[in-house]
Amino acid sequence: MRLGIFGGTFDPPHLAHLILADECRYQLELDKVLWVLTPTPPHKLTQDISPLEQRLALLQAALTGEAAFVISRVDIDRPAPHYAVDSMRILHRDYPGDTLVYLMGGDSLRDLPTWHTPRDFITACDEIGVMRRPGAAVDLAELERLLPELPARLRWVNTPLIEISASAVRQRIRTGAPYRHYLPPPVAEMIAARGWYR
Ligand code: ATP
Repeated sequence: MRLGIFGGTFDPPHLAHLILADECRYQLELDKVLWVLTPTPPHKLTQDISPLEQRLALLQAALTGEAAFVISRVDIDRPAPHYAVDSMRILHRDYPGDTLVYLMGGDSLRDLPTWHTPRDFITACDEIGVMRRPGAAVDLAELERLLPELPARLRWVNTPLIEISASAVRQRIRTGAPYRHYLPPPVAEMIAARGWYR
């Protein structure tokens, strides 16, 4: 099997996550996409992140009825720190023989040198699929100089540029701006019903 590995905070999951993950599934010929919900993302330690139970409930709502999209508990069921390199090693153990394709936005690719042991992370991925993101210009030559293992694994996915981020959605909810249509309807409904992000 070819498995996509889509790591994120998903606070909340939004339409760009779904559109882009589905496009990766199609273009990279993935059998499934595992959505790796990270309880404590190492690069967001200084940010306020919603409780795991809230993000998990929203992700379950977002992925209901999506047979190819599966929530992975690989980070949920182990103590922090939740480094992606460790998630990939565990997933290789759990899915022996499968090809693991890590999926990330252009902003994550740009920041990859700051990840924990980035070269080990890259070699733990069979492929790395990248979705373009507005405002995330990547200096590829510099990246390849710092991370020589990257070019052989990099797969650019031809995705639309979508200017939606979880932080902007949270801000919209907080300030009373319209937000519903940035989200899968069950996610918007759950947020409204529970009064989250206000
Ligand atoms: P925040 O705004 O809180 O930082 P986010 O919208 O980036 O959140 P995450 O859960 O952190 O959402 O993202 C998970 C993955 O999805 C990351 O690899 C990120 O780069 C990618 N991603 C999220 N939104 C987009 C987008 N609009 N375009 C491309 N990639 C995206």
